[in-house]
Amino acid sequence: MRKYSAFAIAREAFRQHSGWQRAWRSPELKKSYSVVIVGAGGHGLATAYYLAKNHGIRDIAVIEKGWLGGGNTGRNTTIIRSNYLQDESAAIYEKARGLYEGLSAELNYNIMFSPRGVMMLAQTEHELRSFHRVNQANTLQGVATEMLTPAQVKAKVPIMEINGPRYPVLGALWQARGGTARHDAVAWGYARAASDLGVDIIQQTEVIGITQVGGQVTGVQTTRGDVACKKLGIVVAGHSGVLAEMAGFRLPIESVSLQALVSEPIKPCIDVVVMANTVHGYLSQSDKGELVIGGGADGYNNYTQRGSFHHIEETVRALIETFPIISRLKQLRQWGGIVDMTGDRSPIIGKTPLGGCFINCGWGTGGFKSIPGSGWALAATMALGEPDKLAAPFGLERFAEGRFIDESVAAGVAH
Ligand SMILES: Cc1cc2nc3c(=O)[nH]c(=O)nc-3n(C[C@H](O)[C@H](O)[C@H](O)COP(=O)(O)OP(=O)(O)OC[C@H]3O[C@@H](n4cnc5c(N)ncnc54)[C@H](O)[C@@H]3O)c2cc1C
Repeated sequence: MRKYSAFAIAREAFRQHSGWQRAWRSPELKKSYSVVIVGAGGHGLATAYYLAKNHGIRDIAVIEKGWLGGGNTGRNTTIIRSNYLQDESAAIYEKARGLYEGLSAELNYNIMFSPRGVMMLAQTEHELRSFHRVNQANTLQGVATEMLTPAQVKAKVPIMEINGPRYPVLGALWQARGGTARHDAVAWGYARAASDLGVDIIQQTEVIGITQVGGQVTGVQTTRGDVACKKLGIVVAGHSGVLAEMAGFRLPIESVSLQALVSEPIKPCIDVVVMANTVHGYLSQSDKGELVIGGGADGYNNYTQRGSFHHIEETVRALIETFPIISRLKQLRQWGGIVDMTGDRSPIIGKTPLGGCFINCGWGTGGFKSIPGSGWALAATMALGEPDKLAAPFGLERFAEGRFIDESVAAGVAH
């Protein structure tokens, strides 16, 4: 695969862009692979990439029922941060954030990582105390965060009304190296790099069954025929329960729709990411000028990619208290994704009751930020056959053992 570079842009400018190659191959599905990954979202593609790059396993198919990156990876609000409460979470999210820092160079693909800073507002005394606790935990974990005073918040975000009628801003937890990245580009970058290493990415192909002999996975049934494999990775976010049922086990996961919306594009007015957990809304501005706004998850389980209409109203109404200047903006579009929620708001990474079958799910409303770390950890786990250090605390067995990794505080708002 030809490298993208300033020289390549110049060269193509002189020959009317006739020399660009396709970003990834579209191969035929083979009859067997060493490893099959179900789901070409960010997590599945990153897993395939690190399996090939870190572990030299290249006989891999990533099978996707739609188009790659068309699930939650292409539907999220792209917030990246690692200021979680528990040590296990901080380790994997900080690994991911660190990988994001160098990902454009690593993948030779501009993922537009923008470490503009993430601010989590404290708008009640309880929230302020919780964030002080997270800040102290982060200090011990080596994750760089700090508390901001209301005046410091106002200085960073002049458009914010910090003396709001219901919930004045009492402070904020600030992670300066948090930020955003272009979600599609993360999927495309991993796809291109994985394809270049020999991974077959098979789109428009649904996995409809999982075959096994004597408790060991032997392959998958797809809408394009059967495929044998020695190891299987299930990385399908909101459809994890469906795939688990095919494999013959159950997951402690609920699937709900989470939605987001963008405003019409306006001139730059906010250059950090703000999360307002109490009123439940979050906001950043895209490079195109749209305000990217996220809200809550549906209150009932479903597989729609729409979201309930009343959430839009609630989210916007809540944010207007803190950002009165957005009150007259028009909404450009709205969408939903199917998120996979665990009871302790932490993911599941590791082995399953079916031999040779591994799973990575439960990232719920907040798994975009973890894509590089999670792909890294699942790849190591699949290659070794045992959970690696990052993945080990997140095994499925923790629900039977009562060993929860409670992130309900730090996961807070819906991501
Ligand atoms: C509105 C919204 C806002 C969000 N905001 C943030 C945020 O700001 N920050 C953050 O960190 N996270 C956020 N998230 C969460 C984040 O998007 C997800 O955790 C993450 O993208 C999950 O990635 P994935 O690769 O696991 O899943 P997906 O990207 O959903 O990929 C799974 C893929 O599996 C495929 N699939 C399913 N079943 C089958 C089958 N039977 N056969 C073949 N393929 C199958 C699907 O088509 C899909 O492409 C948000 C999510 C939503 C919906």
